[in-house]
Amino acid sequence: MTRCAFLGLGIMGRPMALNLLKAGFPLTVWNRDPAKTAPLVDAGAAAAPTAREAAAGADLVFVMVSDPAAALAVARGADGALAGLRPGAGYVDFSTVDPGTSAALAAEVAAAGGRFLEAPVSGSKGPAEQGTLVILAAGDRDLYDQAGPALDAVGKLRLFLGEAGAGARMKLVVNMVMGGMMTAFSEGLALADRAGLDAAQLQEVLAAGAVANPMFALKGPLMAAGRDEPAFPLKHMRKDLRLARALGEAVGQRLPTAAAADALFVEALDRGLGDRDFSAVHRVVSGRAAG
Ligand code: NAP
Repeated sequence: MTRCAFLGLGIMGRPMALNLLKAGFPLTVWNRDPAKTAPLVDAGAAAAPTAREAAAGADLVFVMVSDPAAALAVARGADGALAGLRPGAGYVDFSTVDPGTSAALAAEVAAAGGRFLEAPVSGSKGPAEQGTLVILAAGDRDLYDQAGPALDAVGKLRLFLGEAGAGARMKLVVNMVMGGMMTAFSEGLALADRAGLDAAQLQEVLAAGAVANPMFALKGPLMAAGRDEPAFPLKHMRKDLRLARALGEAVGQRLPTAAAADALFVEALDRGLGDRDFSAVHRVVSGRAAG
C-alpha cells in the first residue's frame, strides 16, 4: 500500500488525513503545532516531529496549509519536507496559493528528485469530512494517476488541468466568484432587514429562483442566527481575493467587483474577524461588526 504523509492538520487537513486513514493508507502526519496530531494518532496515524521526517518515509506527501508563505515554509529549510523527500516520491500540495508559488514548488520538488502536483480543492469543512471535495489538479500527469486512489479518498470529483499553475488559477477564479457572491448576499440580507423584510422569506424567495445555490442555503440561516464558527476562515478568503486580484493584474483583466468585495473583507480583518467564518463579512456590510 502506498505510504502517505500529510502535513498541515487545520480545518481541512485534519478530515482529509482522516479519510486517507479510513481508506487504508499507512499515514504519517505532521503539523506545526504538534497538539493537532493527537486525533490522527488516536485514529492510527504515526506523528513525526518535523516535516522532513514525515516526508522521509512516504511515497506520497500531501500538504494542506494556509497560504503561499506557509506552503513554502513547509517545503523549505533543514527540517522542511523537501529535505526528506525520497527519490521519485510524489509531492501533492492541496493549499490554495498563487500560480507563481506553485511553479516555485514544482521546480524545487523536481530539484529535490520528486514529482509535483498542485491540487487545490473546492468545497469546505463539510465536504472535507465527507470526502466529497472537488480537486483541481495540475502538474505531473503520472503522479496524478498514481495518486488517484488517495485523491479519490478525499474527493468526489477530480480534474487534471494541465501544467502546474493551472489548478491555482482555477481555484482563485472560483473563490473570487464566491467572495463576490458572499458580499452581494450579505448586502441583500442587510437591505432586506432595513427595508422591513423577513430574512427567512427572502431566503425562501432566493432558494426558489435562478440565483439559488448551496452556499446561500447553507450560510443564510447561520448568518441570520449570528453564527460564524469558522468552516472557511475569513482570513483565507481575503488571501484568495488578494491573489485573484494579483492574477487579474498579471493577465490584464479588470476585476472591479472583486476589488469591492476585497475592501469589505479587509475591513472585516481589521475588525478582528479573520478567524471567524468568511460569512462574518456580513457584519461589516450590515454595520454590525464589533470593534
Ligand atoms: P486552517 O484551519 O487555518 O489551517 C491552516 C494550517 O496551515 C494549519 O495546519 C497551520 O498550522 C498551517 N500553517 C500555517 N502557517 C504555517 C507555517 N508557516 N508553517 C507550517 N504550517 C503552517 O486552514 P484551512 O481552512 O484548513 O485551509 C487550508 C488551505 O485550504 C488554505 O489555503 C485555504 O485557503 C484552503 N481551503 C480552505 C477551505 C475551507 O473551507 N476551510 C476550502 C478550500 C480550500 P498550525 O496548526 O500550527 O497553525
